[in-house]
Amino acid sequence: MDSLRFDALKLMNTRSRVETVVPDEKISNYFGVDVFGKEQMRQYLSKDVFASVMDSINEGTRIDRKVADQVAEGMKVWAMSRGATHYTHWFQPLNDSTAEKHDAFLTINSDGSTFESFSGNLLVQQEPDASSFPSGGLRNTFEARGYSAWDPSSPAFVIDKTLCIPSIFVSYNGDALDFKTPLLRSMSAIDKASVRVCQLFDKDVTRVVPNLGWEQEYFLIDEALYNARPDLVQTGRTLMGHTAAKDQQLEDHYWGTIPQRVSDFMKDCEQQCYRLGVPIKTRHNEVAPNQFECAPMYEEANIAVDHNVLLMSIMKKTAQKHHLKVLFHERPFNGINGSGKHCNWSLSTNTGVNLLSPGKNPKSNIQFLSFYVCVLKAAKDFGSLMMASIASQSNSFRLGGNEAPPAILSVFTGSTMSKMLSSITNSLSNAKLTPDQKSKIKLHIGKIPEILLDNTDRNRTSPFAFTGNRFEFRAPGSSCNCAMPIIAVDTAVAYELDLFRDNVDKLIDKGVKKDEAILQVIKDFIIESEPVRFEGNGYSAEWHKEAVKRGLKSIDKAFDAFGEYLLPDAVALFKKYSVFSKTELDSRYEIKVDTLLKKIQIESRVTVDIAMNHIVPTAIKYQNVLIENIRGIKEIFPNDIEKYAGREIETLSQVALLSNNISTAAVAMTEARKKLNKIESIPKRAREYENTIVPMMERIRESIDKLEMIVDDEYWPLIKYRELLARL
Ligand code: ADP
Ligand code: MG
Repeated sequence: MDSLRFDALKLMNTRSRVETVVPDEKISNYFGVDVFGKEQMRQYLSKDVFASVMDSINEGTRIDRKVADQVAEGMKVWAMSRGATHYTHWFQPLNDSTAEKHDAFLTINSDGSTFESFSGNLLVQQEPDASSFPSGGLRNTFEARGYSAWDPSSPAFVIDKTLCIPSIFVSYNGDALDFKTPLLRSMSAIDKASVRVCQLFDKDVTRVVPNLGWEQEYFLIDEALYNARPDLVQTGRTLMGHTAAKDQQLEDHYWGTIPQRVSDFMKDCEQQCYRLGVPIKTRHNEVAPNQFECAPMYEEANIAVDHNVLLMSIMKKTAQKHHLKVLFHERPFNGINGSGKHCNWSLSTNTGVNLLSPGKNPKSNIQFLSFYVCVLKAAKDFGSLMMASIASQSNSFRLGGNEAPPAILSVFTGSTMSKMLSSITNSLSNAKLTPDQKSKIKLHIGKIPEILLDNTDRNRTSPFAFTGNRFEFRAPGSSCNCAMPIIAVDTAVAYELDLFRDNVDKLIDKGVKKDEAILQVIKDFIIESEPVRFEGNGYSAEWHKEAVKRGLKSIDKAFDAFGEYLLPDAVALFKKYSVFSKTELDSRYEIKVDTLLKKIQIESRVTVDIAMNHIVPTAIKYQNVLIENIRGIKEIFPNDIEKYAGREIETLSQVALLSNNISTAAVAMTEARKKLNKIESIPKRAREYENTIVPMMERIRESIDKLEMIVDDEYWPLIKYRELLARL
């Protein structure tokens, strides 16, 4: 049978292994060799210059032009020693990828002689033509100009003979046009607020950084099969396809043996990551067939964000070499698990303490509790904003569904921790503590480390779970840039930490002793954050009802989630910490809404294309085969037509009916789009697209999936789920 589908399947079956040879050396021997890290800087920069760069990394001080020239020279010499011929500012504009424009070091003298040069000016700032990056109105108000500026806090690296300089990207007016700028601002906010609270316990703490350890889930499928699915090629997910008889029900994929082809791919990616200093630690099969995960050791949030973006781009390129396609879409296949990117978040101090890990003595446990309750309260006060930070068109297929985190933010603390919080509030009745109350509380707090040690509770249904020494934000989608959720968490927690310190100071001013004041505020925060704590099954319908009663918002639609960014509380929060100005929030809203609209529009068009040009013609061909056969039977058995062809006539009517439904619905959806396109306001149009076009697509899909079960397999034009998800 000649068809795109069967050709692709044949091609896949003839693939030979693309072996990855792993060097015999220890990984630590070559880890970070392509990074201009501390060691390399020490070697290639003078002592003074090295010290200035370190100051800038640690204290955020500015690097002056003369020093920048020397850094540029050292960086160039190092990069050329690693084979680099070009350099680029590497930044993360507000779309799904990174931006880079390569320039050669090559310079020509007036006498025609050539040499390699790179100056401080070029290192520090560049002016890419910003006009084709999403800017959400920031460009209309001002000029199209944008600047990328070196971010010394993330080290430069060489990839593919190009020196990449991690940069931020801002408009002529200084408005952030990227993910990194607000991330760095939010890190500075939580640094300051955390230090204020730490100072209550330890005067040596002068700097606090948020850490991020992401877990990247993804699917791999054969490139030939991918190319034969126009929906995957154009939208990153399958817009139709009946579930396979067997997919994940037997739970035989999770942590199973990694297939050889996949193992070669993973090792290839890891080799590249190690050279670039990305500390990949874990690899395993995930729940769904051909779904996998990798996770690094956690790092400072800004570096972790860069490393995740870098990993995703390495994976995309490397997959090609192995004739594979990597799918980062949150829900490439209906009926089986989607992919997330859990963001594990914690705070650590310059004194080496993880503030979300209980310590060895009561004092450090109270410090831990102080931070802990601030995170709870942040989730309570800014939960909807946190959910908005992970909302996207593609993640909306993962949220609110049967298998994924619900669209309500709640926090799982674990039953023992939860009991502990309640007992603290119960034993504290008022500001003035009796000696008895004091010793009770000390007892409770003293028990925290033990409790956490045997607290093996895991709740996979919670979007935000405490896991012993960190919070795991499970709602972010596999394709997202982790900066958005981290910005929301950092800023919201910074707000609560400041409030915590302010409230403690107020009590102290009233004459309450420091220790008691701290306990009192801890208690208040526990009580105020109570509604957001939930230990049960987050996927259940009861929780939905209960959450609404508790005053928590359930935001099922991406469009509604985006609106959270423009609510007065959100605007005030981000303004207070100079993370986003109102203009910057407006621009992000505009981009999110516009992207939502465009993605639905593309999916709808592809659905119509496949329905009308692939599925309906197939149905017609198959109808003719049936008609021909029924006619033949009738000719030979004119009196027994019901006996010999009754079932076939029934099939024919089903195929005809479904096919007719599909084309009617496709035409109706196209008409609906035309009508909606007349709506002037983009947000209104996007909302209507999400409310009306998405369900229309789903109905078309239902009919197509039913048809797939009826039509002769040989005629079916699309690669089936059982083929896409067959073990690689
Ligand atoms: P699990 O599947 O149990 O969540 P994984 O090993 O898949 O565990 O992922 C754990 C992730 O959490 C890793 O990225 C790891 O670096 C990160 N992590 C561990 N400890 C911390 C911490 N203190 N702060 C932030 N991230 C952490
Ligand atoms: Mg996890």
